[in-house]
Amino acid sequence: MRHPTLLCGVLLGLLLAESPPARSQAAPAALDERTAVFVLGNLQFLLVHELAHLVIGELEVPVLGPEENAADHLAAGALIRTQRREGGIDTRRGAYLLAAADAQRLSWERGSERGAPVPYWDSHALTIQRFFQIACLLYGADPVTYADLPARSGMPAARAAGCAAEFARADRAISWLLGTYGRKPGEPPGATLEVRYEAPPTLTAQRVVAEMRRVGLAEAVVARIGELFRLPRPATVVMRRCGRPEAAWQPEQREIVICYELADLLYRMTPRG
Ligand SMILES: [Zn+2]
Repeated sequence: MRHPTLLCGVLLGLLLAESPPARSQAAPAALDERTAVFVLGNLQFLLVHELAHLVIGELEVPVLGPEENAADHLAAGALIRTQRREGGIDTRRGAYLLAAADAQRLSWERGSERGAPVPYWDSHALTIQRFFQIACLLYGADPVTYADLPARSGMPAARAAGCAAEFARADRAISWLLGTYGRKPGEPPGATLEVRYEAPPTLTAQRVVAEMRRVGLAEAVVARIGELFRLPRPATVVMRRCGRPEAAWQPEQREIVICYELADLLYRMTPRG
């Protein structure tokens, strides 16, 4: 078995127990707060990561270095900017991004416990590196609120000392992206970006979708993308059963697919202690 890589959100070979099948008659029970933050935080990050791939591809944005790193930095940086625009990094939104980092760390730890081979060759950074990259951006954006993050995460002081500069670079790059490729004031909207939910196959997926729709998670992200960019061609964000736990931008199908298996897996990964 290879080491889990979270390929654009794929968590391979982890926690393979099945979720119970969906029951159609009763409304599903709401997720508890801890589970909602962990699962929705990760789904939000992965959705924005896939939208970063879409924007880079559709608008032909030049990228130096691995696109996967750029997509992670864009996603983390954009989510932090949104939080700041709304007046500081509030606890629940900050917790969303911490949850996204934490899933990468958990994925690494569980792969290591199993002695799974490490994919040094992969286009993605190793999951433990992705964890530290997100944690560093969050700490760098707000070293006061997240003062204990380096110590809690095991980040060496030398890395932590550079996080403010790392965040500032990412923030400048996003400003450049918006200034160069963004929708200008007065320009009409671009092609539509829709959100569609296919029938969730498990009770867990039903509960996750209910919570996503309650807070308007995907709808808010997609609306913001429409404000910021004029997409040349329409696309759809679709949640569906795929047979594997992943999220992916599929340019040929014009779809960002978020698999229900990923929602199930994130639910099972939620730290309970
Ligand atoms: Zn990706």
